This record gives sequence, C-alpha cells and structure tokens, in this order.
Amino acid sequence: MQTIEQVTKETVQQTWDKRPLIISGPCSAETEQQVLETAQRLAATGSVNMLRAGIWKPRTKPGMFEGIGAKGLPWLQQAKKLTGLPTTVEVATGKQVQDALTFDVDVLWIGARTTVNPFSVQEVADALRGVEVPVLIKNPVNPDLELWSGAVERVARVGVKQIGLIHRGFHTYGNTEYRNAPMWHLAIEMKRRNPELMMINDPSHICGRRDILLETMQKAIDLDYDGLMIESHIDPDNAWSDAKQQVTPERLKEILDSIIWRKEDIASEAFHQALEKLRQQINHLDDELMQILSQRMKIAEQIGLYKKENNITILQTNRWNEILERAFVKGDKIGLSKEFITKYFDAVHMESINHQKKVMDS
Ligand code: PEP
Ligand code: MN
Repeated sequence: MQTIEQVTKETVQQTWDKRPLIISGPCSAETEQQVLETAQRLAATGSVNMLRAGIWKPRTKPGMFEGIGAKGLPWLQQAKKLTGLPTTVEVATGKQVQDALTFDVDVLWIGARTTVNPFSVQEVADALRGVEVPVLIKNPVNPDLELWSGAVERVARVGVKQIGLIHRGFHTYGNTEYRNAPMWHLAIEMKRRNPELMMINDPSHICGRRDILLETMQKAIDLDYDGLMIESHIDPDNAWSDAKQQVTPERLKEILDSIIWRKEDIASEAFHQALEKLRQQINHLDDELMQILSQRMKIAEQIGLYKKENNITILQTNRWNEILERAFVKGDKIGLSKEFITKYFDAVHMESINHQKKVMDS
C-alpha cells in the first residue's frame, strides 16, 4: 500500500501538543526495509504519534554499530510519506543538524551522552540558530540537573521555542535492576523547575530489558509525564543495537493498551473537596513533624552541652546503632520500610550532629 501523507508544520505542532505523546521506532535505522516496515507496523497500531530512529549512534566502544549515517535519512523521509508520522532523530554535531534538516526531520533530540558535554550542546545549539524546529533534550548520563538545565538554556538562547525533556535514567555504580537508574526524584525536580517544558519518559533506556517496560511506563504515567519514547524493532532479538530492550510494534501496542491512563485532574467538585481535605491533613501533619523535629534538635543541643562539659566526642557509635535498631523494629510494626527508616534517621542524625557541633564549638 503506497499512500503519500503530507506532514506540514501544523501537523508537527499538533503532534507536539498531543497528550500523551507516544514516540516509537527502532534504536537504530539499519536497512531501508527495516525502517519502512517498522514505521508501517507502528502506524498500524494507531497508538504512535511520532517516529524515532537513531541515524548516528554514540556507542560506548569502538567497533560496535555506530549508525547507518546520513544514508538512512531518505528512508525516514519515505517512512514519513508512507505513514504521515513526523520523524525525530538524535543529533550530536552541527553537521548532523544540517543533514537531518536537509532531509526534513521534524523534531531533533539531543542524546544523553551529548547533554553531558557543553561544547557539543553549544555546537548543536549554534546550528539551530534561526531554525524553527522542536528539540527534545535527554537527561545527561550522570545525575546532574545543572547540566541538563544548562543544555536547555543553550538551546533556548539561540531562539528555539519548542523544547521538551526526555528522562532516560542515569548511570549509577553497582546498579543492577535497571540499565540506567530512573532516579524519579531528579526528573520530578527538573519538571518542578521547568513546568512549561514537556517531560517524556524513555523506559527503553531506563530498563535496558523488555520485562520491566510496562511497570516503568505505568509509573511515568502515574507521575503525570507528558509522553513516552519507546524503542521498537520488527525483529528485536536481531537488532543491531539495544536488542534486549526493543519490542515489536505489536507488543508495543499490547503494552500501551495495558497501561492505566490516569487523568491529572478531574472536574468533579466532590473529588476536589475530598482531595483538598486530605491535603490539609498532610500539611497539618507535616507542620507537626517539623515542630517535633525542632524539639528533637533542641534536646540534641542540650546533650551537646553536656558532652562539652564532660569532654566526650559527639559521635557515639553504639548509641547510634541502638537508635537505628530500635527504629527498624518499631518501623516494621507500623509499615515503614527499612530503607525509609535508614534514610530518615541518617538525615536526622546529620542535623543533630550539626546542632551539637555548634553548641560544642561555641
Ligand atoms: C537512543 O535513544 O537510542 C539513545 C542513544 O539514547 P540515550 O541518549 O538515552 O542513551
Ligand atoms: Mn537505543
């Protein structure tokens, strides 16, 4: 079936504004046939709004498949014609920006390995000066929000109006479950700082494997993300890159259909009132918790004074272990996880030590 679909600036704008925005396509464009078949099978799901494909691939080791290069751009152009889906490609250099634009790529994205490098981001930004093209910016591989924000600023400064963020997880030492630890709190903080920018989740590069894609996507949707970018391949096991994390277009459709799509807001007055009441209770409890913590610090200061008079060290390891053990037992009975208790008491302990130190140094 040979249909010719027009993708205009308006179509791209409408797609950009879609919520949830679902972007899918192979990790890498490999052959013309693979790109066209993937695109058509993705379009047939009726659930995908934009087509992605890696043309230039930043690989960890030399000798791995580094992308088909500009030769693959006409394939994407053809895929767009056949499906009517706007396209998006990763760019890391000024030349790649020019090549992508020459072949009418509709949306550009900056990859995680590029966001870490201000020189590269600036080069890409300079190539975007005066060009009206939307840009998605992936988080840097290392968990550094300043670097991510810096990339956004560089791209915004050259006049790019439509900027979106992609959360693809972060490298962490010793992390096993995920290929890139999601560290959801960092993406949430980035969203809090930039409420006007859309936030897309990339579960493929977070998970690095197929079996936990759905739960990761569900979590993103529960956290009110604006969309998802998921890798899809017609023959995932034989993909030339990221074989373990890709799914067929049909499997993608099944996963998308299993997601429970939640609304951020519903109109019902009763719902809002109930929610408001619960939120007030939370505020009230948070106020009380802070009061109690402040009292706890005052007692710590008294202990500090006492230690000073008797010339004893601040840190008493035995006492600290005793506090933690006590809290684990108690926490377990009232539904607080060991992980939370550990983090909470670590923070309280540090603050206590600081209070005591102030007293002892005075
Ligand atoms: C990709 O999307 O295929 C890719 C290389 O992603 P990232 O920049 O997140 O590693
Ligand atoms: Mn990939």
